[in-house]
Amino acid sequence: RETLGPRMVKEALFTYVRPEAAEEPELLGVSPRAMEDLGLKDGEEENPKFRALVAGNEIFWSEENGGIYPWAQCYGGWQFGAWAGQLGDGRAISLFESQNPDTNIRYELQLKGAGKTPYSRFADGKAVLRSSIREYIVSEALNALGIPTTRALSLTLVSKSKVIRERLEPGAIVARFAESWLRIGNFDILRARGDRDLIRKLATYIAEDVFGGWETLPAIVSVGEGQSASEIDNPPRGISSGEVQENSEIEENRFARLYREISRRNAKTVAAWQAYGFMNGVLNTDNTSIYGLSLDYGPFAFMDNFDPQYTPNHDDHMLRYSYKNQPSIIWWNLVRLGESLGELVGAGKKVDDEKFIKEGVSEEMEQDLIKRAEAIINRTGEEYKAVFLAEYKRLMCQRLGLKTQQESDFQDLFSEMLDTLEALELDFNHFFRRLSGLSVSELETEDQRTKAAAIFFHEDGFGGIGYTEESAKERIAKWLDNWRARVLEDWGAGNDEERQTAMKAVNPNFIPRGWILDEVIERVERKGDRDVLGRVMQMSLNPFQDKWGLREEEEQRFCGDVPKYKRAMMCSCSS
Ligand code: AMP
Ligand code: MG
Ligand code: MG
Repeated sequence: RETLGPRMVKEALFTYVRPEAAEEPELLGVSPRAMEDLGLKDGEEENPKFRALVAGNEIFWSEENGGIYPWAQCYGGWQFGAWAGQLGDGRAISLFESQNPDTNIRYELQLKGAGKTPYSRFADGKAVLRSSIREYIVSEALNALGIPTTRALSLTLVSKSKVIRERLEPGAIVARFAESWLRIGNFDILRARGDRDLIRKLATYIAEDVFGGWETLPAIVSVGEGQSASEIDNPPRGISSGEVQENSEIEENRFARLYREISRRNAKTVAAWQAYGFMNGVLNTDNTSIYGLSLDYGPFAFMDNFDPQYTPNHDDHMLRYSYKNQPSIIWWNLVRLGESLGELVGAGKKVDDEKFIKEGVSEEMEQDLIKRAEAIINRTGEEYKAVFLAEYKRLMCQRLGLKTQQESDFQDLFSEMLDTLEALELDFNHFFRRLSGLSVSELETEDQRTKAAAIFFHEDGFGGIGYTEESAKERIAKWLDNWRARVLEDWGAGNDEERQTAMKAVNPNFIPRGWILDEVIERVERKGDRDVLGRVMQMSLNPFQDKWGLREEEEQRFCGDVPKYKRAMMCSCSS
């Protein structure tokens, strides 16, 4: 590393590189859930070997015994819609893979902020404490909400290593893990370099090694009339929109099946982001996971007041990565992947011919191949939409306490609710949690509903233009009436308690919003407070509880109204 420095890496997908030694590292915390999922015993974090490992001071390789040498990935990326060339793990170094013997899930453990790699370009390979705290907490929070994500095991402060950003800041290392750290950018760079051989190898590796075999990738099954392809895996109830038109003319090979699997995974993840109001903030192709994980925590945020135009990224002037654009941007990224895989998915059965493997597309194949690749990308797009919608509707119904889905729900319940929240500038996640606690038996009269409407207001009331308190309440009350009717339909009368429990189990009481993370950062960094980090991790890991038995005042404040001037905060990318 020291001799070669940053460089272009050709004909390879990774480079062996060793973490820099960290001087006087201080372990600030571990995620108990992560320990469990990795198959590590409680208390293992006291082990000096564990601490050395997560600080980058120990690796599983030695000159005498061999073992596993750490590595950094090579990838490229489309950033804000433009090709950015080679990027790669500029400050992430993978240490090893490890399989939990109980769950059989295999994870790749990596350190973020442990020093330079050949991919560091002009930067220092370090991470500041503030962005590390954000990643450490949000990874575990999303996982606890049931949203696919990369995970965080530990946070280590390396205060001796000062990092220069807008000011001098303490450095930190997050030990993180995932089923796969591969992203669309891995294919982008190979495509840009015309490395057909490695594209095929990487795609094959993903199918066989990451997803557990070609045979696990569902083939297009011809489906009966009125059924959509998404129904095969994820039967939605009574969904008619977004159907996939089956086209048996398209010859689908195994690489096309792989492409569809990657697309479907991402469709489900982005549906969960939309349903829970999460925004990544920088959805470039290098931050879009092959495994369908939420990946790369920079200027992310959870929605406060519902505003579809909101982007948490301070530099995102075009609103490319705003809430409402996330589903279409992920698809845009998946089209880039489709293009990288174009030759493979478009080759049909010829994909295994020796001549094709060696020489690629012959002239007589070309037109056919392009047509087929396009058809497969387009059809996968239809499927992406269908899977996204099915998952989004499933989650929204769950959040609203509905057991069945009806055609009219989309308009009468989802859209009208979102429009109301937007118009009155009300909090998205608080809405669901507060709704969970309502009893439909107490929403029978208009008077009752109007009274109940006030629980969704902020402490300082509501926003919006042209509303009086009366008309604001009236709009919410009208929605509550529709909601009540649907709840009664699904649950019958007298089942409030059961339904409330079901709703509270999917509507978080706590989410790590920007203002809370800012407070945690401030207290850890400037006041040397270590305990608040552990408490917020506890709350993040158990987001559906009413209380945590930690500090009552703090719990209530963190679950309560977002202070007026701390709503919809934005974050710059310097981290
Ligand atoms: P991101 O915006 O986090 O997706 O990062 C884009 C690229 O910049 C990736 O290749 C990162 O590895 C790299 N990068 C970001 N910050 C640093 C840093 N401090 N040192 C080295 N590389 C970095
Ligand atoms: Mg990135
Ligand atoms: Mg980043």
